[in-house]
Amino acid sequence: MKNFKSSPSRLETRSRFRSPNIQQVSMGGFWADRIAAVAEKTVPILQLRCDEAGMFDQIDPARPIPEQRIPFSTAFGGGKVRPVGGNVTAQMYWDSDVAKMVEAAAFSLASHRNDTIEAVIDRIVDMYEALQQEDGYLNSWYIRMQPGKRWTNLRDCHELYCAGHLIEAAVAYYQATGKRKFMDVMGRYVDHIASMFGPEPDKRRGYCGHEEIELALVKLARATGEQRYLELAKYFIDERGREPHYFLIEAEERAEEPGRFAHGTFEYNQSHIPVREQTKVVGHAVRAMYLYSAMADLVTEYGDETLRCALDALWDDLVTKRLYVTGGLGPSADNEGFTSDYDLPNETAYAETCAAVGLVFWASRMLGFGADTRYADIMEQALYNGALAGVSLDGMRFFYENPLQSRGNHHRWPWHRCPCCPPNIARLIASIGTYAYGVGESEIAVHLYGENQARIDLGGRAVHLSQNTRYPWDGSIAITIDVEEPTGFALLLRIPAWCATATLKVNDEIVDLAATLQRGYARLDRTWRPGDRVMIVLDLTIQRLYAHPNVRQDRNRVALRRGPLIYCLEGTDNSVPLDRISLAPDAAFEARFEENFLGGVVTLQAPATAETSDDWLQTLYRPEPPRTSPASITAVPYYAWDNREPGEMLVWLRET
Ligand SMILES: [Zn+2]
Repeated sequence: MKNFKSSPSRLETRSRFRSPNIQQVSMGGFWADRIAAVAEKTVPILQLRCDEAGMFDQIDPARPIPEQRIPFSTAFGGGKVRPVGGNVTAQMYWDSDVAKMVEAAAFSLASHRNDTIEAVIDRIVDMYEALQQEDGYLNSWYIRMQPGKRWTNLRDCHELYCAGHLIEAAVAYYQATGKRKFMDVMGRYVDHIASMFGPEPDKRRGYCGHEEIELALVKLARATGEQRYLELAKYFIDERGREPHYFLIEAEERAEEPGRFAHGTFEYNQSHIPVREQTKVVGHAVRAMYLYSAMADLVTEYGDETLRCALDALWDDLVTKRLYVTGGLGPSADNEGFTSDYDLPNETAYAETCAAVGLVFWASRMLGFGADTRYADIMEQALYNGALAGVSLDGMRFFYENPLQSRGNHHRWPWHRCPCCPPNIARLIASIGTYAYGVGESEIAVHLYGENQARIDLGGRAVHLSQNTRYPWDGSIAITIDVEEPTGFALLLRIPAWCATATLKVNDEIVDLAATLQRGYARLDRTWRPGDRVMIVLDLTIQRLYAHPNVRQDRNRVALRRGPLIYCLEGTDNSVPLDRISLAPDAAFEARFEENFLGGVVTLQAPATAETSDDWLQTLYRPEPPRTSPASITAVPYYAWDNREPGEMLVWLRET
């Protein structure tokens, strides 16, 4: 066993890593349970809810044009309808909700074939094909509900955002089933978009108020091999925030007061300055994550160091000042996003599920530059905690906001009028295998551990990897390499920064880990033979985490981490009010795997003390501090909270 330190470095020549596709990785163990819940429960619920909401009435040109169902000028943040003073209705985004449902369903089909669900998607594709206009335009709101107004308000109305989600859905459906009709429909729409927007004098210099189409165009370019889609993505990124500001020009054309913007500042949609000048993560958190994801894709595709510099600054800003320990982000409901440095309130945390999902997207794309555990650690942190909490264990209920403390009044809901989060976490879980690996020319990086089988195409050579592990509950990971003939390539194995000690063996021989480490990955460059075995053991010692002293809400408190999982206390497991509990600095924890509890989890137990109130009677204040009595506490993984009887929850515990 060796101690080691990884040395972060930047702006070096990088290999370019791509994710495997959905067909290439079959997940088992921990993720197989989540994928099954999504395929068997979440996806049918998503389809049903889209139908019940009337989304298909809006899309299907064979049905009468429906009445508008949701009033303008409302948003649904915080589970409440609230006025935003704009001219937007959630109905404008319905194409995106349907698209994310289709994408989640498509990814699920790769592991759970289901003719009924596939038939529903085929019908939806047919609706969109029938709806598509002669010139390729395709947006159900502007075709059916507001004809004549297309491309008049890119700032608020999510038109290109909807296109982006439809593109992602079409690519996913093609990859999962080989059916390319939807992708061809979207290709025609993109050609129309490219004829409207661009740097050429005869085009409008627009871009979307809600980023999304940029990363979708990169996906479409990769799926089709068409460079022009990449060029359009690059245009949208390059143009964002430039002067003269498109959203001001557009507002004037609508005869609106240009300065009248419901969200006050263009920081809200990250168009306040050109993207290469941005160094602070600001505004709406989901929009920010999607923007940075596309920027990272373009760095990978174009090797654009100017974008890379901006991303490095933005990454550091997020992870050193603005990220919850759960990997959640965006503390404020007002802008559904960022506020100020170190402002990380626990009970009122907005921390939208979509934002944590978006951080997984961004982090995974930062790994396109090359394997670096700085990015993979954050990807894993957001995935297992802030994102995964967004869906109940049975796949049937959903969080929009993900606070780190609850008095017992915060619960998952069966649906939401602005239903962005359920399909977002569903599509991530259903495609999680594609995040586990990065494939370069002669390199395979293992970014995420977990029971799975991967069939990777390494420049025409087939490499099969089997991970055998109970991760995240156990730190032992056995990887078997299967190749048809001896094959030379580098296998890069992530050693998370949270892991203080690790051991690595190849065919039972101990490897000097420190000598192989590059940016937190052990690099094993050798000729691999059929049946070669790698064994990694990661130390999953329970750790107490302390927040930077500037995070006032976490002062004198600790969070508990074991491996990638952040823990919390729930009222139902603990007999005293959670905020009265204090941990002694030397209190020892015990970790226990409980197979029949919360789907099988490791729980943590420790002795603690709790303040008592028995002797306070009617007193509100007194000269003596509260007395304490011994208490034993039980902590469960944060992602698994609120799956039992309602009650309190607390991540940051007092320490005395
Ligand atoms: Zn959401």
